[in-house]
Amino acid sequence: MQTKIHELTDLLNYYSKKYYVEDDPVVSDYEYDMLLRELKELEDRYPRFRRSDSPTQRVGGAVLEQFQSVRHEVPMESLQDAFSEEEIREFDRRIKGQFPNARYVVELKIDGLSVEAEYVEGVFVRGATRGDGVTGEDISENLKTIKALPLSIRNAPRRLIVRGEVYMPKKSFADLNARREENGEALFANPRNAAAGSLRQLDSKVTATRNLSVFIFNLQLCEGREFSSHTETLEALKEYGFPVSPKREAFTTIDGVWNEIIALGALRSSLPFDIDGAVIKVDDLSMRNAIGSTSKFPKWAIAFKYPPEEKETVLREIRINVGRTGVLTPLAVFDPVLIAGSTVEKATLHNKDLIAEKDIRIGDTVVVRKAGDIIPEIVRRIAEKRPSGTVEFQMPSVCPVCGSTVVTEGPVTRCDNSECPAQLTKNIVHFVSRDAMDVDGMGASIVETFVEKGLITSAADLYRLDRDVIARMERFGEKSAENLLRSIQESRSRGLDRLIYALGIRQVGQKASKVLAKKFRTLDNFAKATEEELCVTEDVGPITARYIREYFGNPKNLQYIEHLRQAGLNFEDTNEETGTRLEGLTFVLTGTLPTYKRDEAAQLIEKEGGKVAGSVSKKTAYVVAGEDAGSKLTKAQALGIPVIDEAQLKEMLGIL
Ligand code: NAD
Repeated sequence: MQTKIHELTDLLNYYSKKYYVEDDPVVSDYEYDMLLRELKELEDRYPRFRRSDSPTQRVGGAVLEQFQSVRHEVPMESLQDAFSEEEIREFDRRIKGQFPNARYVVELKIDGLSVEAEYVEGVFVRGATRGDGVTGEDISENLKTIKALPLSIRNAPRRLIVRGEVYMPKKSFADLNARREENGEALFANPRNAAAGSLRQLDSKVTATRNLSVFIFNLQLCEGREFSSHTETLEALKEYGFPVSPKREAFTTIDGVWNEIIALGALRSSLPFDIDGAVIKVDDLSMRNAIGSTSKFPKWAIAFKYPPEEKETVLREIRINVGRTGVLTPLAVFDPVLIAGSTVEKATLHNKDLIAEKDIRIGDTVVVRKAGDIIPEIVRRIAEKRPSGTVEFQMPSVCPVCGSTVVTEGPVTRCDNSECPAQLTKNIVHFVSRDAMDVDGMGASIVETFVEKGLITSAADLYRLDRDVIARMERFGEKSAENLLRSIQESRSRGLDRLIYALGIRQVGQKASKVLAKKFRTLDNFAKATEEELCVTEDVGPITARYIREYFGNPKNLQYIEHLRQAGLNFEDTNEETGTRLEGLTFVLTGTLPTYKRDEAAQLIEKEGGKVAGSVSKKTAYVVAGEDAGSKLTKAQALGIPVIDEAQLKEMLGIL
């Protein structure tokens, strides 16, 4: 049992890191919640096996080092969750046992990112994320870009801290992902992750473009005014000009509460933003005080989580999509069904093993849902509804695009023809994408058109495109042709790490590319490196090393590299020469620096191999203090950590 508990702890911690830190979840919230529940039940039965890093013991995620950390004056707690009517009734019995005439407020549980905002004398002074509930990240600049949040309030109390949920409306999410797809960028899994990713940008200009909004759902602290109920506080917040959570109703009976939960659930798909549940809260503030909290959540509130909506439909076809690396991915096409607010008719089936495991055949009745309420997936088939005469699905033996024989490696089926048009287009889309060579204005549809018209047969051809030919094409004119060519020319000077990433070698992602560029310094050194030499870094294992050797062992790829060289691309790591001055040193920035913004100074430090942390500890090498430096400066002095100013930092950076 110990092993099982530890395995679940590790798995859930991994999922949490992907979700909270990287905004890139790998499982649906429902799956996560069910596993968490399983862990909690096991821990309750075998408390001695519970680890201190168990996700059942913690609120939320880690605080990113790039931001200044903020200690919450009032803890930002999480909510206990419920998945059944019985659990809601149990909650009511507990509350009514203590306060028989308790009144509840039922609200929408908006699926976004929890934030707090502080106002002094009616002026917004600071905003922070929840972080681990005790310490969050200072995201004041980013929060200021959200138009729904007032930056000043009239007739305000002396000091006010409010808590709310920042969310991305469904429409903005769909637009953002469409844009990202067009640019060949990674897509966000759902509006919640998109909101979190947008709010934790180091550059608030990016946040400003993301159309975020906010609902305020709690008054954390108010100096100079007393309230007796939650309803009263929300009314006051509304008068101050805050967008408070819509659709809140009060009930004295649990039947009323339950009916409201059902009614809100039915609204789910028609709301312009995502909700993942309904929150039930005791209204009276003195009762709340008496009921109290656990270390994780208040005992006077509970969140009912709606199960993911599932629908039955009939699988009509399994199409094969060929990806950038030649992988053949089966795609299920079924009779259209309306789920969570939109019609879906396709879902990826990932690979042949998954189809075999779920035993899915064309003609089967299948259950479909949206993972994280967004991405359609086939959950299972209904065995008793299988018509007669169905046959087991077989992956094709030749690539459906170029007709080459496919190869199978474990669950993966792959077309090995590097000239396959499907791979070619997707490779070029990857090459020009933002994280790779970042060719502004060149999305998937433009690449497709250029490939179709025979203008390009590899990314190297981009650098030989003729302005007049482009200008005469549909959707282009003189000006846009010129702009595109300028972006292409600009991409010539991108760093070596981007070029390595842009080559699209299997398993070589952005992080590995950075490490490889730093180690080998030139593309030629990298291309010549042996498997052993390639393996030495943490981010490149033996399998990746083999893929890299395979890539450079292919004469066609070498020819492609030569074409890129002739096109004048930068094959050297120019950053490197000055990149180690601050290696191994951790800096903390505090106060306003005379010329640099804090994120600019942080970037310069990181470029020289240093680290920037949000809080002062024994590991801090230097604190860089500007005007109005606060508690960090005091702490540095107490710990005897050297404090420097901007000029001294510049000197260390070799700028002065
Ligand atoms: P939670 O999201 O279940 O509930 C607490 C949050 O609800 C609060 O922080 C608050 O911001 C928010 N909220 C929204 N509307 C509210 C309202 N009207 N009143 C009060 N609070 C309101 O708990 P959590 O600890 O933030 O996170 C757990 C969630 O994260 C779960 O849904 C879980 O599935 C998900 N998660 C998913 C993964 C994954 O891999 N998919 C990993 C980790 C966590």
